[in-house]
Parts: sequence; C-alpha cells; structure tokens
Amino acid sequence: PFDVLVVGGGPAGASAAIYAARKGIRTGVAAERFGGQVLDTMAIENFISVSHTEGPKLAAALEQHVKDYDVDVMNLQRAEKLVPAKVPGGLAEVHLANGAVLRSRTVILSTGARWRQMGVPGEDEYRNRGVAYCPHCDGPLFKGKRVAVIGGGNSGVEAAIDLAGIVAHVTLIEFDTQLRADAVLQTKLRSLPNVTIITNGKTTEVSGDGQKVTGLTYEERETGEVHTLALEGIFVQIGLVPNTEWLKDGPVRLSPRGEIEVDARGETSVPGVFAAGDATTVPYKQIVIAMGEGSKAALSAFDHLIRTVPA
Ligand code: FAD
Repeated sequence: PFDVLVVGGGPAGASAAIYAARKGIRTGVAAERFGGQVLDTMAIENFISVSHTEGPKLAAALEQHVKDYDVDVMNLQRAEKLVPAKVPGGLAEVHLANGAVLRSRTVILSTGARWRQMGVPGEDEYRNRGVAYCPHCDGPLFKGKRVAVIGGGNSGVEAAIDLAGIVAHVTLIEFDTQLRADAVLQTKLRSLPNVTIITNGKTTEVSGDGQKVTGLTYEERETGEVHTLALEGIFVQIGLVPNTEWLKDGPVRLSPRGEIEVDARGETSVPGVFAAGDATTVPYKQIVIAMGEGSKAALSAFDHLIRTVPA
C-alpha cells in the first residue's frame, strides 16, 4: 500500500506528489491525464518567476519533476470510487475504472475542474486563439482590443468589470432576460463607460480568419434577429465544473457546487483524506494556487501519518 496516494495529475497533484515523496514515504499518483488543464493552455504569463511559458511545456516539466523522485505514476487511470479506511489508521481504497483497487494510508484528491463550454461552432477551433476562459490568465493579452464575455452570473460580471479596465470594449452577453450577478456587481458594471450589456442573447457562432477570432454571432432570443459583433476575444464564463462526480455518493463532503470542502490545512470531512486545487472550495482557480494547495495537502497528510498508529 501507499502512504500517500494522489488522485489527479495536474499542478495540484504534481506538487502534492513531490512534497510527499520528499518525505521518503511511499507515494503514488493516479491520473486520467497527467498535466491536467495545463495541457489545454497556450501562453502562461502568471506562473510567478517564469515570465512566459506554454501549457505543454509546463506539463512536461511537472512530469519530469515528479519523476525525479520515487513516485509511482499511474497515468491514464480514472478513479471511480473512494472507500475511506474502516478504522482509524486503516487503509483507504481508490477504485479505478480498469477494475484495480489502490490502497493507501492517506489520499489526496486533486481531480481539478473543467470550464463549461458554449458548444457552438468555432469555439473549439479558436480555443486559445481568441476564445478564453480565464480573465486573470488571458485578460492582458487583449489589452486595447474588443472582447465579449459570455455569461451574466457573478463570474461573468466580475470578468467584464476586470476586463473593462484592460481592453477597449466589453460586450457582455447573457442568455436569460436579466443578469444573475449580485446587485452590487451589476451596479458597478453599469457604471463603466466601455461596457455594453446584452440580455436574452444566445451566442450561436465564433468566427475567425483561420488564425484567430474575428467575431461572434448571437441571436436576440425574443425576435430571432441575428447580429454579428466584430471583436478579438471571447471569454466564456458559464461555469467551472469540479471533476467530483465520482465522489457524489460520499463520504467526502462537497459544497452545493460540487467542490470538495477543505479547511485551511487541506483536510476534507474524512480523516486521512485531503484535497487540493480546482476541485476544492478554495477560491481563485490558478496554477500557482493549485500548486501551493497541493504542497499544503501533502504536508498535512504527512502530519497525519506521523500522528496515526497504523491499524
Ligand atoms: P487540473 O489541472 O484540472 O488537473 C486535474 C487532474 O485530475 C488531471 O490530471 C485529470 O486528468 C485528473 N482527473 C480528473 N478526474 C479524475 C479521476 N476521476 N480520476 C483520476 N484522475 C482524474 N491558470 C493560471 O494560473 N494561468 C494561466 O495562464 C491559466 N490558463 C488557463 C487556460 C485554460 C485554457 C484553462 C482551461 C485553464 C487555465 N488556467 C490557468 C487554470 C489552471 O490550468 C488550473 O487552475 C490548474 O490546472 C488547476 O490545477 P489542478 O491540479 O487543481 O487541476
């Protein structure tokens, strides 16, 4: 059995594995796709101390750093079920889709999250070439340009306020007849001179010139009228979904949005089970944050191990 079994191989999981392995304890990582969301990213300019890197390059570096240590990396393995230890100091089980069962004294859950997509033509083609999901990450790439934000919930309106300070113009498009963000955010948004708000609008297509985004088509839902906006960027803000469906039946406590509830030490509601990164309730989903949380969860797991007598 492992001392620490990490489920998920993104920045949080890689960081947790390295911190655990450096304690000289038996460490394993099971990941559906080692690298995580970083693999889908192009330019990364906010990974502090590295002015510019690219997703695949950072993912390769994560894997290399993990492999510097004696870590059992099980890539292309999807976890389907977590069974906590039956007695204090016992072994927890992680059941994989291939039928294997991994046992460990502690488990770190770091299965990340995924951005909900619009599912319209052009979105996939122009992902990272104008279609973006993270204003903190990609906002500055659109300095002085025109962008749209899709989604009028809190995250969409926050993104529009944020981007309005950087870009030339923001068009916010909400599907519903009204914005759903907190009133204070809506008031702030409406006070900004370079923001247009469109409600009851359904985005139907992302268009581009083969290289990058050049526009967006939307339909006025009431009249059926179709409009095209010329712009350079589209920020899709219709939800970040944690990859925790496999934990839905318990026993780890999830928030109403499906995020794993953790305390300041990365502990979940189940002793010996820790969590880190985008899959958790920790706010602001970013690489540096996921890495910090991963290291924290590993240190907490180690702390748990040295205080627990094996059953
Ligand atoms: P993830 O990276 O999501 O990794 C989750 C891991 O768990 C993966 O290995 C996945 O395969 C695995 N997994 C999921 N379910 C299971 C399961 N059931 N069993 C086993 N394994 C499972 N952040 C920045 O800081 N700067 C940026 O510039 C930036 N740009 C971004 C651009 C894009 C297009 C996207 C999508 C995200 C971007 N982010 C950026 C956000 C950043 O990628 C995430 O915050 C970070 O990757 C979260 O790390 P994580 O380890 O928590 O989760």
